[in-house]
Amino acid sequence: MKVLVVGGGGREHSMVWKLNQSPRVDTIYCAPGNAGIAGIAECIDIKVDDVDALLDFVKYNWIDLTVVGPEAPLTAGIVDAFVKEGRTIFGPNAAGARLEGSKIFAKDFMQKYGIPTAEYKSFSSYLHAEEYVRLKGAPLVVKADGLAAGKGVIVAATVEEALDALKLIMKDRAFGDAGNRVIVEQCLKGEEASFMILTDSKTVVPLATSQDHKQIYDGDKGPNTGGMGAYSPAPIVTDELRADIMQNIVDPIMKGLSRERIEYRGVIYVGIMVCDGKPYVLEFNVRFGDPEAQPILARLDCDLFDLLKATAEGRLKDVNVQWKDDASICVVLSAKGYPGSYEKGKVIQGLDAFTNDSNVVVFHAGTSLKKNSVVTSGGRVLGVTALGKDIRIARENVYKAIEKIHFDGMHFRRDIADKAIKRQ
Ligand code: AMP
Repeated sequence: MKVLVVGGGGREHSMVWKLNQSPRVDTIYCAPGNAGIAGIAECIDIKVDDVDALLDFVKYNWIDLTVVGPEAPLTAGIVDAFVKEGRTIFGPNAAGARLEGSKIFAKDFMQKYGIPTAEYKSFSSYLHAEEYVRLKGAPLVVKADGLAAGKGVIVAATVEEALDALKLIMKDRAFGDAGNRVIVEQCLKGEEASFMILTDSKTVVPLATSQDHKQIYDGDKGPNTGGMGAYSPAPIVTDELRADIMQNIVDPIMKGLSRERIEYRGVIYVGIMVCDGKPYVLEFNVRFGDPEAQPILARLDCDLFDLLKATAEGRLKDVNVQWKDDASICVVLSAKGYPGSYEKGKVIQGLDAFTNDSNVVVFHAGTSLKKNSVVTSGGRVLGVTALGKDIRIARENVYKAIEKIHFDGMHFRRDIADKAIKRQ
């Protein structure tokens, strides 16, 4: 079988790596891919949101399954375009992708179907939003409605910060049309967890739990990033909490999708804040989290190709999903300056050290090939991912592995999974 993976980050490298283990997969293409993906797949130079070019590629190369990594092509309707042409593609259609593409749609959906979430109001007028911010007082969270590459959410500790956020989004239009409307919502205090499900609208399969680390510095300090590391399983999600999430969040999501006549085939990522033991939804994503996919797929103990194809074809009930007992951790190595403007083109050393280590895999995110060297080309550069009998051993393995890697300005957090270890 031939597979096309759309995307070029750490999440897509982990997907390609896992798909490559399937005996049913002969050839993997990746658009656009990166230097690490190029070692196991053929990278093709097509942008992730160039739906017409991707469809042409799939037609002329007889691709059996297309797997979409990032959100932008999903919200742009890649699945609708492929399905219309009779192609098998993993991911939700544009109607389903609105759960991520419009935060107001997602919050209204949550309210309509009784899904616990922070109190909120949405605005298309700056003056009304400003009035509401002053009325409510800080802390508050201000969110651009549309896609903003993970930067459209501002947690404001003071009224001034909230007003600055409103100005940034609505007046300076820092995120363009994504800021035509905003949400102002109550700031929740608690611990976050990521809960992902796979669904074909008939069957729901919860994936292994995980926890991301958004801030750039240890101790959850500094500005938010795309994610600096993640681990799985997340002990904060106890059996009791998991049952609560399934009953009070996942069931109403599925009921809501059915009522709205949205046939959803793909991943639903539920970002959760656990406040006093109760789960509240912060956001939905309509694809695997990055970097959560890396530790989760490292623990997946069945054929990813079968799983994704069955989901895309509405046969998810036929697949038996298995997980390794091992814990896993992914630590992101980032470029100097990230999440602000960052350096590029730094040579990465030490990558050859891992070819025979079954416990460690180095997923590439922002890398490219220059002459014969792998160089940095993105803010998040690598996601070093290790398995271990338990989370402590996985942590030992991952930090030992990182010692072998170097590039100028390399930064990483040294406290990934500390919360899990403390909880034990
Ligand atoms: P989102 O993209 O909506 O998940 O927001 C990104 C990050 O902002 C989350 O991972 C949280 O750390 C933070 N956040 C979002 N909404 C809230 C909220 N209502 N209260 C506190 N923090 C929030």
